[in-house]
Formats: sequence, C-alpha cells, structure tokens
Amino acid sequence: MKYLITLLLALVLATPSVAQEKKPKLVVGIVVDQMRYDYLTRFEDRFGDGGFKRMINEGFNCKNNHYNYIPTYTGPGHASVFTGTTPKTHGIIANNWYDKYEKKMVYCAEDDTVESVGTTSSDGKMSPQRMKTTTFADENRLFTQMRGKSIGISVKDRGAILPAGHSANAAYWFRGKSEGKFISSTYYMKDLPEWVKEFNNSKKIKSYLKEWNTLYKIDTYKESGSDLNDYERGFTGKKTATFPYDLKKLNRLNGGFDILKSTPYGNSIVADFAIEAIKNEALGKDEYTDVLTVSFSSTDYIGHNFGVNSKEIEDTYLRLDKDLERIFKALDRRVGKGNYTVFLTSDHGAVNVPSYLKSVKIPSGYLNNGEAKEQLKAFMVNKFKAEDLIENVSNNQIFLNREKIKSLGLDLVEVQETIVNEIINYKHVYKVFSAHALSTNEYTTGIEALLHNGFNQKRSGDILIIPDPAYISYSLTGSTHGSGLNYDTHVPLLFFGKGIKHGETYKKTVIPDIAPTISALLGISFPNGASGQPLEFVLE
Ligand code: ZN
Ligand code: ZN
Ligand code: ZN
Repeated sequence: MKYLITLLLALVLATPSVAQEKKPKLVVGIVVDQMRYDYLTRFEDRFGDGGFKRMINEGFNCKNNHYNYIPTYTGPGHASVFTGTTPKTHGIIANNWYDKYEKKMVYCAEDDTVESVGTTSSDGKMSPQRMKTTTFADENRLFTQMRGKSIGISVKDRGAILPAGHSANAAYWFRGKSEGKFISSTYYMKDLPEWVKEFNNSKKIKSYLKEWNTLYKIDTYKESGSDLNDYERGFTGKKTATFPYDLKKLNRLNGGFDILKSTPYGNSIVADFAIEAIKNEALGKDEYTDVLTVSFSSTDYIGHNFGVNSKEIEDTYLRLDKDLERIFKALDRRVGKGNYTVFLTSDHGAVNVPSYLKSVKIPSGYLNNGEAKEQLKAFMVNKFKAEDLIENVSNNQIFLNREKIKSLGLDLVEVQETIVNEIINYKHVYKVFSAHALSTNEYTTGIEALLHNGFNQKRSGDILIIPDPAYISYSLTGSTHGSGLNYDTHVPLLFFGKGIKHGETYKKTVIPDIAPTISALLGISFPNGASGQPLEFVLE
C-alpha cells in the first residue's frame, strides 16, 4: 500500500501541470532589421518551404502590422517589440539622442559603469540601463524565479541587449575590425562561456570572408532594379556596386570583419551562433520556459548601402530564408516540433531611395539641414536678441538652452511656439509641434498620435519636426528610415508553433501588441509599461 501511494505520488509529480503543458518550452523572438512588409510578398515565390513560408503556412500572418510612433529607428524598435510599449514609456527615444541633463549625445545601449568581455575594445561597454521598463523576457525571469533563461543575440549590440531585457542571463553581439567574434559585457558575466570562446576560436567566422555572389543566376532576379544604377553606394575599393563582391580582398579597406555586417553572411553568422546557443545553453530543455531573442542586422546595413530596390536586397532575403530554415530545423531537433513558439517582425521598414523615386516622378527628396539651421539661427538672433538659444538639433528635434531662456527672462512656451510658427514655413516641413503641445494634449489619431507615442517628456526635445513624405536627411545613395509613414511603419508579424493558430488577418495590429500576446501565451505578467493588447485571434 505504502509502495502504491509512493508510486502514485511520483506519477503525479512527474506529470507536468496543465498550465505547463500549454506553455512552450522556448520562445524565440526574431527581429529582421529594416524588413518592410512587402519583402514577404515581393520575394515569396522564391522562398523555400522551411523559412518564412513555414511560418506563414503553419502559423499566423498579421498582414497589417505597424509601428505606432515616430521615430522608427533600431533602438526604439527593438525596445518596443519586447516591452510592448513605445518610446513615450520605455524611454528609448532614438539610437543616439541629446541628453538634456548630461548636456551631451548619449547612445541607447552605452554604459560606462561596465566593462567589455571578450574584447580589449570598448565595444562591450553596454547594457540596457537606459530602457525604463521591462521586456516580456524580464517578466518570464521573474515569473519562473529566474529559472527560465533569457539570451539575446545580434550583430548590433542594441539588437541583442534591449530585447533580452534587464535581467537577461546573457546578450552577445558582433565585434568586427580585426577581431571578428561575439562579445558581451560585465553587466552579464565576468568571462565568455566556453562554447562562445570555442565558436570565436573556430575558423567559422573567417570562412565567410569569401566571395558574395548571387545565390541563383542574377538574370533570374526579377524583383529588383538593375544591379548597376545610381542609387547604390557599394564598398570602398570596388568601382561599381555590382556582383560579385570579393570580401577577402575588400575587407581590408572596409573595416576588416566589419564588412561581413553589410553582407548576408552577417545573418548567417548570427544563425550559426544562435544554433550553438540553443544547443549549449540547453534552451527549451526543462519545464521552465526560456526566451531566445535573435536580431538579424545585416538586412539593415545592406538596405542603407544598396537601397530597397536593389539586387543585393533581393539576394539577402533569399539567403536569410535559408538561415531561418536552419534555425527552425535546429529547434525541431533540439526542442522538438510543437514545443516552441516563434515570432518574427522587424524594427522598422525603409523608404525607397528618394533619388530613384524622383526618377519615376514620385514626390521625394533630400532635406538641407545646414541651410535650415542657418535660417533659424538668424531668426532667433533677430527675434530674441540672443545667440545660442538652441543647444542641439538631432533626430528632427530642437533642444533649447533652458537656462539661457530663463536668464533672459523669456517664457519657454512662448519661445517654443514662436519657433513652431517660424519653422512651419521652411521647405519640406510638413508639421511642427512644441513639447508644450505634446505634454498638454492627448493626440489619438493620425501622425500626431505617432509623434505623441514617441514623445518622452523627460528626454525629448522642445520642438519636434515632421518632414514631407519621402524627404530624408541622407546620402543620395541607399535607403533609410525614421518616419511615421507606411514605408517605415508597415512590417511583418508572423507567429508559429506552440499555442498559435493557423490563419491571417488584415485587421490592424501594432508593435506593442506583441509582448502582451507572448505574455498571455505564457500566463505571465505583462511587461510593466505595456500599452498593447494581446492578439486573441492568434492564440489557440
Ligand atoms: Zn534597425
Ligand atoms: Zn548593385
Ligand atoms: Zn537602419
């Protein structure tokens, strides 16, 4: 009898609870840097069954998914996906911004109080300390009494650090130059784990310093413009931005291993490293859900260099599809089909190269910031009889010298409104708002609402400017991003795996919905500043 009770008790204890059974053992959050929604449809015919299409065919496709704030940059994007809110709340208002209190430009992931791990350079002096709220990975750590792991991986430091959150076990990012390896910071660890050292010491990364040619014959690439055109920058040391690119030769003039960031191989290295992490960190092996965040950055570098419509972009996505397939296969093998959940999105889209758009008569162009600055400076001297009232201009925002305004006995709100009324007359300015207006009004629709969601009263500037559609401050070659227009806000959102329905929707979803959806799936607290809603129709 006693034996039987012990046996029954053992059986009960060994059987996972209903709650545990419903939960994935591993959540993988994938961000593809600068992936416009239409890349999914533009290159669809050539994707294999195991990558993007597997997510679409087995999972849920949110086809009308958008960023709901300005500015659409990498730091804010990664923070928003994983915290479920916008810069207004999480505080990552740009990649670099002017700090009013420190009186200098700061970087979203920098941290002078920590040291580099795995490199003698300062590239490891990073942490998520400037992000004000928790990610769903943080909430999972708290919920599981720190038993569930969270690990972030990317070529870019901010792409690894912000998603994994404050309480992450590790974040790894790529150090180029003469080193070519994954590094971290003392925020997470004293020394790199053995498996990371082994990966870094293997010949793997160096083996990618080879030729970059198209995956298939170039004349079969129909979803892009001609390889040779006026809208691409290319690499130093090669006259034309045309295939093939000999990276072994070109790397010396293009930052050594840094050149890999601007090729599809940067994504392959991240996939290789993520697969090693899944194996060596035993992710998804015990009953406590783990979180792995993977951000592919090379898509962004390539977009900035060659533009939205390039052959290089087409090739990059066909190759990324293969890298995704490798990751999903590794997950099937290590964690088991149906035991894990994956979502894939992007941190922002990108505008077609304005000089190309112009050539096909679409309104677009380039902003002359120097000229506008001079004009404003002259206006300020004339109007207020004072110089240096403007402390900084960055990210389409103006920061005023508040001490000077006070000492001159001027009214801050009046100065702000005077500048608004001046700048609105400048060329290619669509709208201008003062910090006062954004702090005292609640904007709920249109571009005003996007600006409002990106406005952090403590960190943002005194004046916020919205340029005309497709007008950018950028070189005449390559694409960029940052606006609240559809080319920058509309990005893919795919879910697949444990707990996810099969389907698709054109119902509008916004980026801050992702983290509450994953939190609902896991039955954990929503990130502390989350403003989005769980996407019920996605969950089983
Ligand atoms: Zn980005
Ligand atoms: Zn080209
Ligand atoms: Zn970018």
